[in-house]
Amino acid sequence: MTVNKHSLLPVHLRMSRRLWMGIFWMGLAAGCGSGETSNAIPDTLVLADVKTGMVFTAPPETAIPAKHPQTGKPTLLRAWYCPRCRTWHPVPPSEVLQRNAKAGKCPKTGVALQPTGPLPANAIALDVSP
Ligand SMILES: [Zn+2]
Repeated sequence: MTVNKHSLLPVHLRMSRRLWMGIFWMGLAAGCGSGETSNAIPDTLVLADVKTGMVFTAPPETAIPAKHPQTGKPTLLRAWYCPRCRTWHPVPPSEVLQRNAKAGKCPKTGVALQPTGPLPANAIALDVSP
């Protein structure tokens, strides 16, 4: 009968691992929700071409880097707005931004970039449908 008791152990461990994953994901969601940009999540993603600086808009679920519609190369990064020179600048992924404060600043003026801002009139809507 002691064999049965032992066989319960792995099941219990598997359950707790799933529980830990749940806590992990809940923690991630909570971390995102408490961010200062949480109330400013746009329903449109603003992208900028690292080569030309051209500004694109895309659905929020678009994979980054996104492909340039003309060159087909993944040069479109998420863009943040500079209120000083009124330009959208491409920014690196958020994990890089967290490590490197400089990455979230305008390369020209040194002003902190904002995740939202007025869209330029010449912004091109990216067609991401297959
Ligand atoms: Zn700037």
